[in-house]
Amino acid sequence: MIRSQTCPICNEELPPELTADSPYFPFCSKRCQLIDLGRWADGRYAIVDEMTPEQMAEEFDKQNESGYFEG
Ligand SMILES: [Zn+2]
Repeated sequence: MIRSQTCPICNEELPPELTADSPYFPFCSKRCQLIDLGRWADGRYAIVDEMTPEQMAEEFDKQNESGYFEG
């Protein structure tokens, strides 16, 4: 028996034709996929987007320093 899966964004049941092969999986639609992507972007990538590669490298260094070279 196949258990129906629900979209993690809108909790709608996924349409039967939507399988793991779907580009939207595990979301019910592109819309929900984009919403999920947007939530993600909120946290991190929105900021990264405004950075130059040099700034990003600098941030990366800072994080490494505080993590690995502490003490
Ligand atoms: Zn959905």
